[in-house]
Amino acid sequence: MSGLAIPPLYLLVAAVAGLLVGSFLNVLIVRLPVMMERAWARDCAALSDLPAPQQPAFNLLVPRSRCGHCGHPLRWVENIPILSFMVLRGRCSACGAAISWRYPAVEAVTALLFAYCAARWGIGPEAAAWATFGSILLSCALIDWDTTYLPDDLTLGLLWLGLVSASLGYSGVRLDDALWGAVVGYGSLWSIFWIFKLLTGKEGMGFGDFKLFAALGAWFGWTGLVPVILLASCSGAVIGLLMQWRGSLREGGVLPFGPFLALGGFAVMGVGPGKPFPLLGL
Ligand SMILES: [Zn+2]
Repeated sequence: MSGLAIPPLYLLVAAVAGLLVGSFLNVLIVRLPVMMERAWARDCAALSDLPAPQQPAFNLLVPRSRCGHCGHPLRWVENIPILSFMVLRGRCSACGAAISWRYPAVEAVTALLFAYCAARWGIGPEAAAWATFGSILLSCALIDWDTTYLPDDLTLGLLWLGLVSASLGYSGVRLDDALWGAVVGYGSLWSIFWIFKLLTGKEGMGFGDFKLFAALGAWFGWTGLVPVILLASCSGAVIGLLMQWRGSLREGGVLPFGPFLALGGFAVMGVGPGKPFPLLGL
């Protein structure tokens, strides 16, 4: 913490903005993978000269949010971040099916993220840059966890925003450090992927992981990538072993790496990019 004295009202405003953004992230996390799959289906049909599949419009705005169980469209009072979940006691008002606790959790985490950024950087472009960084990183982590996809729209967007933030002085990282961070981030995982594949014939990672790591390099500079990869590898190994032990790994024993890269990213963001990482001394 830089010891900025922020009026409590500003923190509250930041937290409410975070709640609203978190509510949008919930939509993004569920819909973006479906939008990607539909786009692939359209591309496949176009390549094989088949008629494009006819489907009703589906994007981040259309259709309205509805209960995943009975299809009941949510009224605005049922769509207020956290509050609606508490009032409805986590159940759909029409069919009584349980609503995932993850929706209010994402809203609460995003609210905390925004309040944290406001407390640390004050209300201004730095806080906005890091709040955006955290929001996109959280979305990447959850989409990868759910589907093993890391959408280019998010990873490459995060990379470009990192370079632009460095250029404008918002991220606190020099532009050349950010640029080399992106290059080292992509290149290092790309190299490991190919060495592993040539030696074992297996694919240990996806290309989305390279892009996400490149994006983290653009935000932290290349030196910040060392603690990220150490934390990601260690936490991934521990969780992977635990899940294997409990038999809860998905089919094929796949464990997406993106959520662990994101975990390392949040830890380095918390310490401050360019600062030595505690315990690791990096
Ligand atoms: Zn329902």
